Amino acid sequence: MKNRSLLMIPGPVEFTPEVLSAMALPTTSHVAANFIEVFGDAIDRLRKIFFSPAGQPFVVAGSGTLAMDMAAANLVEPGDRALVVGTGYFSDRFAVILRRYGAVVTQVNAPAVGDAPSLETIERTLESASFTLMTLTHVDTSTGVRVDVRTLADLGKRHGALVVVDGVCSVAGEELRQDAWGIDLVLTASQKAMGVPPGLAIVVAGPRAMEKFRVRNHPVGSYYCDWKEWLPIMEAYEARKPAYFGTPPVNLVWALHISLGQILAEGMEARFLRHSKLSSAFKSATSALRLRQVPIRPELTATTLTACYYPEGIDAGFVSRMAEGGVIVAGGLHPEIRPRYFRVGHMGAVTEADILSTVGAIERTLIRCGSGIEPGEGLRAALAALSGG
Ligand SMILES: *Cc1c(COP(=O)(O)O)cnc(C)c1O
Repeated sequence: MKNRSLLMIPGPVEFTPEVLSAMALPTTSHVAANFIEVFGDAIDRLRKIFFSPAGQPFVVAGSGTLAMDMAAANLVEPGDRALVVGTGYFSDRFAVILRRYGAVVTQVNAPAVGDAPSLETIERTLESASFTLMTLTHVDTSTGVRVDVRTLADLGKRHGALVVVDGVCSVAGEELRQDAWGIDLVLTASQKAMGVPPGLAIVVAGPRAMEKFRVRNHPVGSYYCDWKEWLPIMEAYEARKPAYFGTPPVNLVWALHISLGQILAEGMEARFLRHSKLSSAFKSATSALRLRQVPIRPELTATTLTACYYPEGIDAGFVSRMAEGGVIVAGGLHPEIRPRYFRVGHMGAVTEADILSTVGAIERTLIRCGSGIEPGEGLRAALAALSGG
């Protein structure tokens, strides 16, 4: 039997055949005319996908964590105050990175796992000191909690903070409009809703972020991340000219160009709608299967993934049983609840068929694990949601 497992984790996700084929093209020089054209065009496409005509994209070899590192390295100077809105594991990581570059970090945490800090708490904190920068994790992949980026970005901006959004689990899946929402920097990685194998860190910096970088008094503390090195490279590719700082991952950039073309061909509004429709269908199914979600209120739930607690009597062995059935889901990540829940990513090229296969596999696994559900309960709910019922 062929390896036909379905990869339903919150990144890497299933990729389209066209994207995967691009990975197998003969590798060109990073200054070949056709590659320069592809890289330049990918930069144009990123501006459209981030809704940021004013933004400066950076595409470098690395994972999402490198994109976080790049944001902090270039925007933070020692002693700058940073406010981290804490919704889980990845917000905690941002606080660590910011401190590494000398920021004085205040972290406002959710009162409980699965919740988000209240608007009032965040506002009170912003009023309590002068913050240079505020970070938001759009979707915290460890909890499935999504924050209201639009409202929080507005709040941060009104208090004079640069607004930085970790969109690794959201860009090209969740609605996010960088310029219109006043976000100064959005970062992501290739392997989640962007639909490209792991290996690209992607950052779009707005004019206020670039200005903060330009007026720095201290050199950037990371040689590899320094925008002084990367800005001329991005500008050169955009002007369709050769340039070199560090060799770009040629095949990944090729694949990125294909994926960005597919995203724009689908259309951003249609893409947001597909993600939210498939997410609701999946969540209807998990509710019908009486699986409680980690986010404690419906308005906190992400559309790119679903995080659910195991029912009584079922443990993390659930994930390997799912894999035996051909559907790969992810275990827990948040240290406080790690063995008690699992996560399903449904973003990027995800289809109705993927959702139904996953729901079916969850039902079968729950039944095998001795849960007293009726076969079909979850699938019925998903089908009803998908047909608008
Ligand atoms: C996956 C993820 C990251 C880290 O990305 P890597 O590519 O694993 O380094 C950071 N933030 C969020 C919200 C993520 O989902």
